[in-house]
Amino acid sequence: MSAIPTDLFLDGRFSSELNRRRTTLINPATEEPFAEVAAAEPADVDSAVESAHRAWETGWRDLAPGKRTEILFAVSRKLREHVEDIAQLERQQMGKPIADARDEAALGARVFEYYAGAVTKFGGQTIPVSRGGLDFTLRQSIGVVAAIVPWNFPFPIACWKAAPALAAGNCVVLKPASLSPLTALKLGELAHAAGLPPGVLQVLPGSGAAVGDALVTHPRIRKVSFTGSTEVGRRIMELAARDLKRVSLELGGKSPNIVFADSDWKRAAETSPMSVFANTGQDCCARSRMFVERTIFEPFVEQFVAATRKLVVGDPSQESTQLGPMVSAAQRLLVEEFLADARKQGSAFACGGGRSHPRGWYLDPTVLLDVGLADRCWREEIFGPVVVITPFDDEVTMLNEVNASPYGLSGSIWTNDLSRALRVVRAVESGVLSVNSHSSVHVEAPFGGFKQSGLGRDLGMAAMEGYTELKNVYVAG
Ligand code: NAD
Repeated sequence: MSAIPTDLFLDGRFSSELNRRRTTLINPATEEPFAEVAAAEPADVDSAVESAHRAWETGWRDLAPGKRTEILFAVSRKLREHVEDIAQLERQQMGKPIADARDEAALGARVFEYYAGAVTKFGGQTIPVSRGGLDFTLRQSIGVVAAIVPWNFPFPIACWKAAPALAAGNCVVLKPASLSPLTALKLGELAHAAGLPPGVLQVLPGSGAAVGDALVTHPRIRKVSFTGSTEVGRRIMELAARDLKRVSLELGGKSPNIVFADSDWKRAAETSPMSVFANTGQDCCARSRMFVERTIFEPFVEQFVAATRKLVVGDPSQESTQLGPMVSAAQRLLVEEFLADARKQGSAFACGGGRSHPRGWYLDPTVLLDVGLADRCWREEIFGPVVVITPFDDEVTMLNEVNASPYGLSGSIWTNDLSRALRVVRAVESGVLSVNSHSSVHVEAPFGGFKQSGLGRDLGMAAMEGYTELKNVYVAG
């Protein structure tokens, strides 16, 4: 495995100042410290943003599109060559099972490949305005974009913000979460090794309060692209409003998984545990509220619980591991507070609820029944391996309960009745839905939420729109 990157990545190199404050990273599976990573200060934000601005103004924004394509393809190739290094870093810092970490590293490379191609396929239009002449639109870069990313999918989310922003001609200052800076630093290193000019992608690990706030309020930042909690997203939007910075926000979720009796519900019961427990439930798209038609409720729950018990929970370095530990002791405690509330409210634990590993921040996948609509476990995002399952009798009442959530990110619908599928897809207030599947993320398709799950879209051509200003030009003729 290659060396662990532990310094800020600025202007195309690691900045190895000795007296910088450092944060200790702890491996969630072993509870042992393994790296000391530099933490940026507000002064670093200022110099990183100023130099990104210079890189934008003096080169990147005006580079010929074909050249930008070439560089981004080279970045994609470089990331593919280093999938194993990236995956091992993710496993260590986050406790992510190695097979998932490899898939996510490869996804990051694919994202760069897609946007490398998008550079020369995304443009304006000509518009036949009523007075004649020639009217056309230009899609222009915005400037320096602050990309602020969370710890649950650190590498792919960093890529799906950086790649379209760079493809559209912006420069990027990337701030990873304090718990997961390593793969973002590796991205900076590899992108520059592949030919990205210095200053075009800066990587600044550090705390949300110090680095995040300084970035969001920096006058040269023109757009903030944020993925994280709804609470922090709200604060970012308030700060950005002061000088009307563009924002896109990918926030929390409490997504439904709706199973009708006419579906292949046995397949739904077999596959649904991973729709909520994958990444140990630390997934904004987790299908954490299940609605199951009453006529199949009991056998469904029985099969769901049996499938949950078969999940391989353990050492993230083993190929067969499906669920690793939670990211931190603090995150596990937060989830355990939810479980304490469920006990107090008299909910039934069909399985899980405890810690069966002596070491590491593991928590058993937990299935809750008899959860009231007013209970915390029903209403709030838990962000851990916990699902609530409830029966329903009629579609209309069920849909009202689905949409009563302030969130609207993702969801699944299981039915073999096509007209019902289309009716329910239209009715559910979520940005990303799947029918007879749990898939949420496609590089080529827009990803984002309704209501308090966010604003704007990542991925697909929609992301390119979000990283450009639209200019209209009229030429008298
Ligand atoms: P978080 O909001 O605590 O942190 C996200 C990022 O914001 C981190 O880099 C953090 O350092 C930074 N930050 C914190 N305070 C800040 C501030 N005041 N100003 C600027 N930046 C600040 O979220 P998290 O705990 O890392 O991630 C979990 C949350 O992310 C969950 O709510 C989850 O649903 C959400 N999430 C959403 C999506 C999506 O696409 N919708 C994807 C993944 C995660």
